[in-house]
Amino acid sequence: MALIGTASSELEVVGTYRFPHEAQVARGVLEAFGIPAWVIDETQIRLRWYLGNALGGVKVAVRAADASTARELLSGDHSAALESIPETHLPPAPDEVCPRCGSASLEISRARVDARWPEWFWALVSFVFAGGPSPHYSVKTTARCRACGAEIPAGRGMNDR
Ligand SMILES: [Zn+2]
Repeated sequence: MALIGTASSELEVVGTYRFPHEAQVARGVLEAFGIPAWVIDETQIRLRWYLGNALGGVKVAVRAADASTARELLSGDHSAALESIPETHLPPAPDEVCPRCGSASLEISRARVDARWPEWFWALVSFVFAGGPSPHYSVKTTARCRACGAEIPAGRGMNDR
């Protein structure tokens, strides 16, 4: 593999990619494993995509000392390992668990909540600010825990408006 000399260290190309985003994914994988990585020729190829083949694609380089580990990481396709994990085994998002018992088995329900103001008020507001009619009710999202039955008020990210 090509060696690229720099003032401080030597970089070794561990992967070449046709598209810049593929190289960025590879860099992300390496950095997730604590290996600093650099994407080379990305700008050149973004600006002059037709030079991609001549330049040898977008390259990902690491320090020569990390090269063999990096190649091993990039040669492994980890997507299969991720896909083989059933979704129920993945940790739930913080707003998807019951605050009382910690169960992730929540029943989400949405209910229409009528506005506290009379309809004419919302009609006026809509015409003044939005230039047309808009719904004068909101949708309230609540959740009920299937495990302990606790009613959970709408959390972050659960509300429509
Ligand atoms: Zn619960």
